[in-house]
Amino acid sequence: MTTRNGNGAAKAPAKSDVDVDVVVVGAGFAGLYMLHRLRGLGLTATVLESADDVGGTWYWNRYPGARCDIATVDYTYSFDPELEEAWTWSEKYATQPEILRYLQFVAERYDLRRDIRLSTRVTAAAWDDVAGQWAITTDAGDTIIARYYVMATGCLSMPKTPDIAGTERFQGDVYFTSNWPHEGVDFSGRRVAVIGTGSSGIQSIPEIAKQAAHLTVFQRTPNFSVPAQNGAVVSERRAPLDADRAGYREAAKWSRGGVPKDPPAEMSWQLSAEERRARFDRAIEEGELFSILGLWADQGTNKAANDLVADMIRERIRDIVDDPATAELLCPTDHAFGTKRPCLDTDYYATYNLPHVRLVDLRATPIGTITETGIETGAETFEFDAIVYATGFDAMTGAIVAVNITGRDGITLQDKWEHGPLTYLGLMTVGFPNLFLITGPGSPSVLSNMAVSIEQHVDWIADCLDEMATRGFTRLEPTATAEAGWVRHVNDCADITLHPTANSWYIGANVPGKPRVFLPYIGGVDAYREICDDAVARDMLGFELSGPAGTQRNDGVVVRLQPDVRLVLKMMEDMGLPTIDSMSAEDARGFIEQLNAARPPGPDVTDVVDGTLPGADGDDLEYRLYRPEGDGPHPIVVYFHGGGWVLGTRESDDPFCRDLCVRSGAVIVSVNYRHAPEARFPAAADDGFAAVQWVADHAVELGGIPGQLAVAGWSAGGNVAAVACQLARDAGGPDISGQLLLTPVTDSNFDTASYTENAEGFVLTKPLMEWFWDHYADPADRAHPKASPLRAESLADLPPAFVVTCEFDPLRDEGRAYAAALQEAGVPVEELRARGHTHTSLTMVDVVLSGADLRQRMADALRGFFTARVPA
Ligand SMILES: Cc1cc2nc3c(=O)[nH]c(=O)nc-3n(C[C@H](O)[C@H](O)[C@H](O)COP(=O)(O)OP(=O)(O)OC[C@H]3O[C@@H](n4cnc5c(N)ncnc54)[C@H](O)[C@@H]3O)c2cc1C
Repeated sequence: MTTRNGNGAAKAPAKSDVDVDVVVVGAGFAGLYMLHRLRGLGLTATVLESADDVGGTWYWNRYPGARCDIATVDYTYSFDPELEEAWTWSEKYATQPEILRYLQFVAERYDLRRDIRLSTRVTAAAWDDVAGQWAITTDAGDTIIARYYVMATGCLSMPKTPDIAGTERFQGDVYFTSNWPHEGVDFSGRRVAVIGTGSSGIQSIPEIAKQAAHLTVFQRTPNFSVPAQNGAVVSERRAPLDADRAGYREAAKWSRGGVPKDPPAEMSWQLSAEERRARFDRAIEEGELFSILGLWADQGTNKAANDLVADMIRERIRDIVDDPATAELLCPTDHAFGTKRPCLDTDYYATYNLPHVRLVDLRATPIGTITETGIETGAETFEFDAIVYATGFDAMTGAIVAVNITGRDGITLQDKWEHGPLTYLGLMTVGFPNLFLITGPGSPSVLSNMAVSIEQHVDWIADCLDEMATRGFTRLEPTATAEAGWVRHVNDCADITLHPTANSWYIGANVPGKPRVFLPYIGGVDAYREICDDAVARDMLGFELSGPAGTQRNDGVVVRLQPDVRLVLKMMEDMGLPTIDSMSAEDARGFIEQLNAARPPGPDVTDVVDGTLPGADGDDLEYRLYRPEGDGPHPIVVYFHGGGWVLGTRESDDPFCRDLCVRSGAVIVSVNYRHAPEARFPAAADDGFAAVQWVADHAVELGGIPGQLAVAGWSAGGNVAAVACQLARDAGGPDISGQLLLTPVTDSNFDTASYTENAEGFVLTKPLMEWFWDHYADPADRAHPKASPLRAESLADLPPAFVVTCEFDPLRDEGRAYAAALQEAGVPVEELRARGHTHTSLTMVDVVLSGADLRQRMADALRGFFTARVPA
């Protein structure tokens, strides 16, 4: 047997002690395409499938009304233009039989069946670390030896056993939507129960109601559903595909969800009520999941923005359903829209207007038991001829851990994943070399058009095997660092959304005892593809490869930035913004003002007052005061904005000041100290101190509590705040309760590791910092403690400090050094190291949501500075 590269050239033969190069489990969308790609590489492969035909999902789920919910022009293979020519979908959302016919057609067209063993369930797989092989055991009792093992077992292929007492007692007919009789079911004249109102329930209920004499639907949790608006494929929908097939497919690959559609740019608050209604109505007309899921940009992350959509959907339900009590039961109120998979339906809600259809609320009256003749709830006894279970799946991990997989050193995957799945890129897992998971946990999978995600994974795996063969490697395994980093990133992505707030199957909440871990990757198909490609381009970052060519271990974490910070940086890169250090100070100020005008405003505060106070040279300095809720008086924080002593105004950090004010319950006085180059060192430092003195003296009239005064500052403002504390100490007052220093400039030293590591690419660059220093201070002055507070003779007796440093900030190390030096000098200090953040990301209120918890910790630190209780 030989392996071939993409050009068809023969490569070194693989060892012949394997039965096949690759075993693939599953013959659905994923397994079929995987086999086709492997054949193309000249590899031998066997596909093992427990069903007696190909098709996967579309083989098993034959219930009435079963359809895809991604439009079929998108939910289709795209790897072969000729295949696309050869097959035309009849409907916008094809039915199960049509999709199954399509997959059978694909199997025939590429002559795949000869390598597929049907009616064969894989029960176990064991890795032999010495031979570098997998032994895959089937329920037929045989074992196949393969070098590579691909689990194409599907995300929604392991039906969940209903956790209801007495299921075995029922003497009538029992059906599972996930394993429907091939010959179909005639419900005419029969009394039918459907348990479950997820996607399968919502699709099947209207169809079953058309036949049944009585239909009773048992609902635990209502789901959001919008009309599919199914029908023939409309020509406008097909037009972009027909005009440029390749371009269309490429756009799908680089889209957020695997369907070519730009994500909304506008936040909910940027749209009027009429505009929002118009977007909603248009999405309802379109009848596509990604339309209704993407009405405005903050829909998935902000509860208030989400409520706007959810309210409109609930309003529709109440409009459609005649009986107000039934309508109320059908309105989901326990989860944000989109945090459970929303459904597309045909006449679902209207079905409840039919006289023979009834809804039973299991929240109010749970099922006590299934009986021989029907169902007993606490309140009622029901008799049925048939019960249909539409109770869903043990999603994403169920089919994988159902196989007893033993990896290196005898560890089993079940044990390794006991507390939740751990993968690198959702593709591989440490301890299980040469095992690949298609659409595994930690990949976009069920949050995306899976046809696109499956093709991406299959292509990644195939290309990887090809490259390994070329380079003389036969063994691949991720590193522990890479896996831990990926799991962290997957969680970081989920944590900035509303998803973790819902008891969904995305989080394993539908299966008793399943660990609560957000399973798919929510960062987007586009970002994910880029990351997977990036790992390869960076010489298989996060993987160890070995084989005849030796061993290559490229340890590391592929994404270290917080996901929203990464997105912001990417957007800025795409915008091609000019660098500030290429501008004059004047132009830079105009430029920043323009950028600031487009940002979210931050939270409402009770009052905003503009005023002036005397600066160090007697001239007025402008300030803006933010007052929190409550009558006051409140503690006061004198705040100094960022901007490298050159840029910024009293309102340039407006959203951050508002946020700090609301979260800390303190009055924030943001002071516009003098700027360079007009007023060079030590103007800013002296103004800062003058401002603190003036605010301390005028605390009462500003609504403050005398004696409860802290200082805070960001970047150069952190420098001004730190210096003000030193000057106040040296002058014997005023008394400062604490200093909050966010990514402060503390030293004029460019030789730190963070200046090297983060010199470029994270907004504040080394050249920009040099530009700032050049504008602010002569080299001879830079070592002065008023410019470099780290260099003060003593840091003893300074106010307690809370120092925030960011991982991707040139100033990171000087912030850390200042915190360490304060501690050394006996000052109470807490340092917050913001993982994955940049110099500018934490102040991006309502943009960088991953900063919200950290902003809260800053506010808590301010509260902690003030000894007296902050008045409510
Ligand atoms: C009703 C329904 C509708 C859906 N609609 C959409 C949609 O519109 N858009 C979308 O993107 N996704 C949809 N999905 C998700 C769907 O699962 C995927 O789109 C896709 O079909 C998955 O393909 P797959 O090959 O990865 O897995 P599957 O199609 O699930 O195939 C996996 C196969 O592996 C086999 N298998 C599992 N374990 C073993 C074992 N141990 N031994 C042997 N064989 C095994 C199973 O029998 C199965 O045939 C839907 C899912 C369901 C249930």
